[in-house]
Amino acid sequence: MAAAADRVGRDPSDTRVIAVTKGHPVAVVEAALAAGLRDLAENRVEALVERVPAFRDRDCRWHMVGRLQRRKAPEVRGLVELLHSLDSLKLARRLERTAEDGDPVLAALVQVNTSGEDSKGGLTPDNAVAAVGEMLEMSSIELRGLMTMAPYTDDEAVLRSTFRTLREVNDRLIAELDGYEGEELSMGMSNDFELAIEEGSTMVRLGTVLFGERDG
Ligand SMILES: *Cc1c(COP(=O)(O)O)cnc(C)c1O
Repeated sequence: MAAAADRVGRDPSDTRVIAVTKGHPVAVVEAALAAGLRDLAENRVEALVERVPAFRDRDCRWHMVGRLQRRKAPEVRGLVELLHSLDSLKLARRLERTAEDGDPVLAALVQVNTSGEDSKGGLTPDNAVAAVGEMLEMSSIELRGLMTMAPYTDDEAVLRSTFRTLREVNDRLIAELDGYEGEELSMGMSNDFELAIEEGSTMVRLGTVLFGERDG
């Protein structure tokens, strides 16, 4: 990570590691904390419901990185530090509708599909301004930036363009939307985090490269 930051003159401390412990036993979470990692992530609400309370009095923050079903959406409020996968206006509307008086505000990143793959979720770059504009009006959600998932490939040009497009969409939102600051870009996984850092990532979501292969 430091070498990648160095190559483009970025400060290495401007990119945080989000340690994705999904599919690994609790002993791996303990090992991550012992190694000094403080940001942990799961991709299923069920795993968060189990793990967040179990680590409540420990020095760590939890993130939700996977697709969030609308039915389960209200459960993440108050549970996670940051939702990385706010992937549609429908999901945002449901989160807003189900928030009750006194509930904590949910910090979130808007997922944008910058690879063009059908299998990936998220807003399209073309509808991002309109959709994020509406999300900014929602008082129970606080937008911190954007997230994307790159295709699984070794093609550097494809990966770079996926990440660069996210940065460009973020710049456009900052320019066009009052109240949008876009301080975080969650991009880069085990396969492609160096390129993502070179393209401006502030959060890399790492599983395999830290903890090895998952079961199943
Ligand atoms: C599993 C997962 C990761 C981590 O993937 P690795 O390739 O193991 O680093 C990152 N982001 C999301 C959304 C994931 O589901």
